[in-house]
Parts: sequence; structure tokens; C-alpha cells
Amino acid sequence: MNVHIPTLEQAQQLLQKYYGYPDFREGQRKIVASMLNGADTLGIMPTGGGKSICYQVPALLQPGLTLVISPLISLMKDQVDALITMGISAAFINSTLSGKEVNERIRAAKRGELKLLYVAPERLELDWFREEMSGLEISCVAVDEAHCVSQWGHDFRTSYLAVSPFVNSLPRRPILAAFTATATPEVMDDMIRLLRLNDPSVFVTGLGRDNLAMSVLRGENKRDFIMNYVTTHGHQPGIIYAATRKEVDDMYNRLRQNGIPAGRYHAGLSDSEREESQEAFLYDDIRVMVATNAFGMGIDKSNVRYVIHYNMPKNMEAYVQEAGRAGRDGEPSDCILLFSPQDIMTQKFLIEQNPQDENRKRNEYKKLQQMIEYCYSNSCLRWAMLDYFGEAHSREACGICSSCRDERELVDMTVDAQIIFSCIHRMRERFGVSLVSSVLKGSQNKKVLQYGFDSLPTYGMMRRRTEKEISELINVFIAEGYLALSEGQYPVVRLQPLAADVLRGQHQVMMRAPEHSAAKSAGTA
Ligand code: ADP
Ligand code: ZN
Repeated sequence: MNVHIPTLEQAQQLLQKYYGYPDFREGQRKIVASMLNGADTLGIMPTGGGKSICYQVPALLQPGLTLVISPLISLMKDQVDALITMGISAAFINSTLSGKEVNERIRAAKRGELKLLYVAPERLELDWFREEMSGLEISCVAVDEAHCVSQWGHDFRTSYLAVSPFVNSLPRRPILAAFTATATPEVMDDMIRLLRLNDPSVFVTGLGRDNLAMSVLRGENKRDFIMNYVTTHGHQPGIIYAATRKEVDDMYNRLRQNGIPAGRYHAGLSDSEREESQEAFLYDDIRVMVATNAFGMGIDKSNVRYVIHYNMPKNMEAYVQEAGRAGRDGEPSDCILLFSPQDIMTQKFLIEQNPQDENRKRNEYKKLQQMIEYCYSNSCLRWAMLDYFGEAHSREACGICSSCRDERELVDMTVDAQIIFSCIHRMRERFGVSLVSSVLKGSQNKKVLQYGFDSLPTYGMMRRRTEKEISELINVFIAEGYLALSEGQYPVVRLQPLAADVLRGQHQVMMRAPEHSAAKSAGTA
């Protein structure tokens, strides 16, 4: 038998020939090599990381067809048009085509004239389509936006569950490759399990695009900050994400009133308005786009210089996806998250609004908590992000995130930590951040008195601070891993092993002073 395994060199030549790129990116090379070896492959790359090349180039080296499962009809057409322009034979089949057109394309595939065929996942559920596909040689099934198969992800699509039965129905099992930008361990497990990837090689790469300067700013006046930032960066393209339509409209109007050419995008506008402002942004007629998270899916604009979040998003996946729209061309770009504790309330409200089963809800609260921890993190934000997604990284800080650039001195917070931890311990680790703060403040609130916490030795031990300051401090300790919150709507603060070390005097807590206490000591000096 003449088994011929195409080489990475051949792949590279095709990359040069069709795409004009001299080389694969690091993450792409590993994925392409794995697919050429015939392994099932799971590739996790940020938006703009270059996922499509990972299956398009191997497709050119396979004897049969590569079937691409893609969720968005509009993207499908763009991708196929781009391939055809480059001289690669590709087609799509979706509901915009007539029956005659569909048949023609299937016939072309049967004659071996196509290297890539794009279809929506719904199509895999149709018997006639399955039968047609059984009649041709499929070398590879590439699943784009593969997180859609998981209920833990943010856009679950039932029809993705049809992928695995479809693959099983084929006379010969093709290589299965799945791609997504977003993956937590749960979603990753789901993709492997529900798509039935066979002992896959998993590659998580490029999340920490080192051209992105990540910042979290707490306690800013958000509107003033944006006005200032946009005025000083007015000539550069940027996106401002806000949580609600109303906030988008307000910010849009303010920018306009100040003579800044801004556009807006949200689900409350008509199709034509949305399309118009999207085009204007793509062609640089407007520089700033103010938008809800409805904006961005499938937008390919490489020179976005900044993404500002007016509100904290609901989870890290959403954040990384949205922030990742900055700097796709590799040039230095800013990703700024303007955090206020009110954002937490908003996100909790949104979770409660959305009818869903208890498991999912618990999961959403957990993800929200992780997002909050990112916002309170004192250490390198790139580490925080890579740790969240389970990507290995060097222990060298990025040097450009807001934590790395934080010039506030490290101060010894061991005593504050001991007071807080011992209070939590005495409250038997059964209450949330706000009640612990009330007790430390020495508040007379009903719940404090009802539980008799006013007789605890730690009662009122932090009375010189506001309750808000105390809860922020607790949140920092959570973000830094001294404390943890239980899951659910009313999370309880618990001590972690590191906190026990602090209580025993075996661990010194060095931290950046919280903003307000820095301001305070400056004021009293
Ligand atoms: P994704 O699907 O991961 O969001 P794309 O496949 O759309 O990303 O690629 C993002 C951008 O990066 C595109 O403009 C693409 O042409 C470019 N790109 C991808 N791979 C390479 C490469 N090896 N060298 C140079 N540019 C690349
Ligand atoms: Zn950093």
C-alpha cells in the first residue's frame, strides 16, 4: 500500500503559494502537523489567531474533501469567496441556495472538484444529506466555533450534537478537527466528549498575544475616562463595549456632541442602520464604534487599536473574545476594562433574569466570580488570563498590563489579612463578603445582631474603613487565592490553605495598597 503522508514543508509551500504568507504562526504549525499525521485535533486559538488556515491548508493536502461545519451563514460565504479568489476550489451549502444549486454543488464534490465544502450544522441532521455525503470521499471534518456543542459555553447550538452521529454514519471515519477561540476546562471536556474526538491532540495557543496591553481600572469616572481616552486617541480605530443599549446610546451621543466621529451598534437598531455603521467602521469613515456585545462576531478589521469595556462582561470567555478584537495585526493595542462593583450587580441580575436550570445557573455564577477575580487581581493580568484558560506560560510577567505597570509600592498587609481571616473563621465560614464586612466595620445591622456577631472579638476591628473598602479588600484576597467563594447566587467566603498560613504567622502578605487607602495616607501625610 502506498501511504503517503504529506509533510509540513509541503504545507508551508502551499501557504506561500495561495496565501502569500512565508510561514505558519507557532500555534498553526503544531495544529497543521498534527492533522497531517492523521490525528484528531482540538485547536484553541484567540479570535484573529488564524484558525481557518489550520484546516484549509491541510485540506489541500488530503485526497478527499474537507467538510467544514460553520455556524454562521454570512461568514460561510465570505470565507468561500476568499478561498475562490485565492484559487482554492471551495463551496458552501446553506439555506440561501435553491435545490438546484445545492445539487450542482454536491455533484461537483462527487466529481472531486472541491477541496472544501462549508455547511451549517443543521444540515447534518437531514437524512438525504447524510446519504449524499456517504457517497463521497471525506478526508476531514473541521468543526468551526466548536464551543457551540457545549451547554457550558456561551452559544450552545443543539445542532452541533449532530456532528458525532454524522461522522459515525460515514463509511470511513475522517479526521475530526475542532476549533474555537474560547475554552475553559469544562467546555474543552465537552468538545472532546460530545464531538467524540478520538484521543485528540489538544493545542491551546496564543491567548496571550503580547501586543495587547491589558488593563483593569477600578474606581474611574467611566464617562470622563472614555471621553479623555477617545479624544487623545481620536485618530485611531477603537471599540467601546457597553452592557446595555441605553448606555451605548448615551455614550454615542456624548461622543458625537463632542465632535468625535462615532458609530453605534446594538440589537435595537434596524438592520440597515447596523449594517451602515459596521461598514463605516470597516472603511474608517468613523473611528470609534460604541456597541453592545452584538457587535463583532465575524468582523475582520485588523487595525483596531483599542477595546474599552465600559462594563465588566459576564465571563472571561466573553471578555477575551471581545478584547481580542484589538490588535489583530500584531501592533501594540490597549484592552481596558473599566470596573465598578455595580457591574457585579448588573451581571447577577442578568443571570437571574434568564430562565435556566440550576446547574447552568451555578456555572454562570462561577464564571462570573472568576471574571470578578480577574478584575481584582494584583498580579500580571496576562498570567491571570492564561491561568484561567489553562495555557502554560513562563513566569515572566508581561510588563505592560495595568498590574505590571502599577507603581504603587508593595505594602505589608499581613495584619489586615489576619483580622479578616480570623473574622471569617469565627463566623464559621458560613457567610458572604458583605456580612463579613459589616461585622468588621462594627455595623449594627439586623443580621449582625441577630447572629450575635457583635460579641465577636473581631467585631468593629476595621471600623476606620468603610464597608465598601473592607469588601474590596476581601475581594482582593479572593482574587489572590487566600480566600474562595462557594458557588451559587449567595456565595459564602471560605479560608484557603494560604490563609491558614497567614493566621499562623507563617506567610507575609505583601500587596499593592488598595486605591483608597493609598489616597488616604497621601491625604493625611
Ligand atoms: P480566526 O478564524 O482565528 O479569527 P483568521 O483565520 O480569520 O482568524 O485569521 C486572522 C488573520 O490573520 C487573517 O487576516 C489572516 O489572513 C491572518 N493570518 C493567519 N495566518 C497567518 C500567517 N501564518 N501569517 C500571516 N498572517 C496570517
Ligand atoms: Zn502583566
